[in-house]
Amino acid sequence: MPDTIFGKIIAREIPTDIIYEDDNVLAFRDVAPQAPTHVLVVPKRPLINLLDAGEGDTLLLGQLMQAAVHVARTLGLADGGFRVVVNVGPDGGQTVDHLHLHLLGGRHLTWPPG
Ligand code: AMP
Repeated sequence: MPDTIFGKIIAREIPTDIIYEDDNVLAFRDVAPQAPTHVLVVPKRPLINLLDAGEGDTLLLGQLMQAAVHVARTLGLADGGFRVVVNVGPDGGQTVDHLHLHLLGGRHLTWPPG
């Protein structure tokens, strides 16, 4: 496991508010929420970002999306809608080098993002 903050969260070395977990995926609340609901959905396997995902990761990428939708439904976001964002690299705004989906909801989100 690379030494990222999310690796430590997955290893339970850092406490966090876990919303969902299965064999391959962990979802927990973002420490600096940008919306009333802001959850991060991460693979337990330490892919750096989408560029690091290969053909063998197709199923895992689907599982991440499905987990995000499951969490959105569970947290009551399905009716109002929500946004799923994946930041990749410096220009994408990625600050943690462990692939993660941002699930944002609970308010009207503007477009385009900054
Ligand atoms: P990104 O900028 O796309 O790489 O997103 C990284 C996200 O991780 C940011 O929204 C941070 O607020 C969040 N984050 C950083 N440290 C923690 C932590 N210990 N627990 C929960 N979220 C965190």
